This record gives sequence, structure tokens and C-alpha cells, in this order.
Amino acid sequence: MASCAYCKKTILMGGVHQEGFRFCNKDCLAQGQVVMLAASMPEADRVRAAQTLFRGPCPQCDKRGGIDLYKSHYVMSFVLFTRHGSHTLLCCRTCALKKQGSDFALSLLAGWWGIPFGLIFTPLALLRNGYAMLFPPNRVEPSAAFQQEVVLRLAASEAERRLTAQDNPIAKA
Ligand SMILES: [Zn+2]
Ligand SMILES: [Zn+2]
Repeated sequence: MASCAYCKKTILMGGVHQEGFRFCNKDCLAQGQVVMLAASMPEADRVRAAQTLFRGPCPQCDKRGGIDLYKSHYVMSFVLFTRHGSHTLLCCRTCALKKQGSDFALSLLAGWWGIPFGLIFTPLALLRNGYAMLFPPNRVEPSAAFQQEVVLRLAASEAERRLTAQDNPIAKA
């Protein structure tokens, strides 16, 4: 049985073919391209890219130092519908605190109004967010997760560049 090269779900019929791989749809194809690009990047390039970013400047505010992988959690409820999730932030501590603070306020204001999930997820998100704000990762070297995130972002911008290029097979599809 064929399965999607990106999300690994079984493809019953159809799907999108690209360079010997099969994907559920165009979204999975786009994501899959990013993953494949990231995987094809030489180890030395990945390490260099991660090191460069780790030592600053911050991609958001251009300040140097404290660049790391931060997490921010949020909950939004609309009566019977509750949405919750996390943002992965690659930036300095100040920028991370800003985003975490706004997600905290958002969850505090908009999280509760869903039954029953708003009442369950909101305190969890507030706790996780509070914890993330109080205890930032404090490392001297970029972690594997940091490196992975940097590589994925590089690959995503490269995929974007290829997507907008004229002679792209996906753009024509
Ligand atoms: Zn898929
Ligand atoms: Zn910053």
C-alpha cells in the first residue's frame, strides 16, 4: 500500500507524485519538499547555519545574544470549539517573552469560553506558558532541536524560492 512520503498516511488512491515520491496532496508535497531539502543539506552546512544563528543577531529584532528555541502556548475557545497549540520561536529572550506574554494574555481572555475543552486546556496552557517564560533554555551550544529548526527554516525559504521561480514543476501543476 502506498503511503505519503511526508505524513506517512496511507494513500488509497490518487495523491501527488514527485521525483519518485508520493504525497496525499499539494500541502504534503510542499512540506515534504522542505523535509527532503533539509535532509539533503550537508552536515557541515547545518552546523554552520545553526552556530551562526545561535550567536545572533535575533531574526526579529536584530539584537545579539540569547537566541534560542522558545515555546509559546495558547488556547482560544468559541463555545463548542476550542483551539490550542504551540508556537516555536527562534529569537532572543526579549522577543520570546513578548510572544509568550501575548499568548498568555490571549489564553487568559479567550481560552475559557469553550465547554468542556476551554476549561481543561486553558489552565494547562497558562501553566506551560508561565513555565516557559520563567525558565528559558540556557545553553552554551545550539541543541539538536535548535539545529533542526534552523535547517527546516532554511529549507523552507529555499523551497519558497524554488516555488516562485519560473521554471518550477510545482508552480505549473
Ligand atoms: Zn500526507
Ligand atoms: Zn529579538
